[in-house]
Amino acid sequence: MRDENCIFCKILAGDIPSFKVYEDDDFMVILDAGPATRGHALIIPKEHYKDLYELPEELAAKAFVLGKKLITKLTGILGCDGYNLVQNNGAVAGQTVGHFHLHLIPRYEGDDAGLGWHMGSLDAADAAALIDQIKEEMD
Ligand code: AMP
Ligand code: ZN
Repeated sequence: MRDENCIFCKILAGDIPSFKVYEDDDFMVILDAGPATRGHALIIPKEHYKDLYELPEELAAKAFVLGKKLITKLTGILGCDGYNLVQNNGAVAGQTVGHFHLHLIPRYEGDDAGLGWHMGSLDAADAAALIDQIKEEMD
């Protein structure tokens, strides 16, 4: 499956150059062109799926297992101190490329990658209502 207008499909087809870190039957892993930190890479399935909602469960599982394998090796290679695995779904969540990808972002002490969010506070009544709703509506 391939989408003609998709930049990652073009990379996978070799129509746009990239820096390849790793490849297997299901995935290509490339360096992000706009890295948050040195070594920022993207796990990209070879088939076009828009996001995690569309990605088959088997590939979702494989992507995370591959992420674990890669960060385990790359931590020593890059000399980083930790890793963020980030995966955005939908424009509101920051997704800018509509072909599923899993970010592997090495973290270095003192880097200014700026990932994170402002912590709110969990209201106990709302939390209870939310749990009730989830229990009712989840299969
Ligand atoms: P997201 O915002 O989660 O959709 O992430 C898309 C990522 O793709 C961004 O971090 C971009 O820097 C990266 N990106 C966009 N075009 C390219 C490209 N041609 N090669 C490598 N990475 C790219
Ligand atoms: Zn695509």
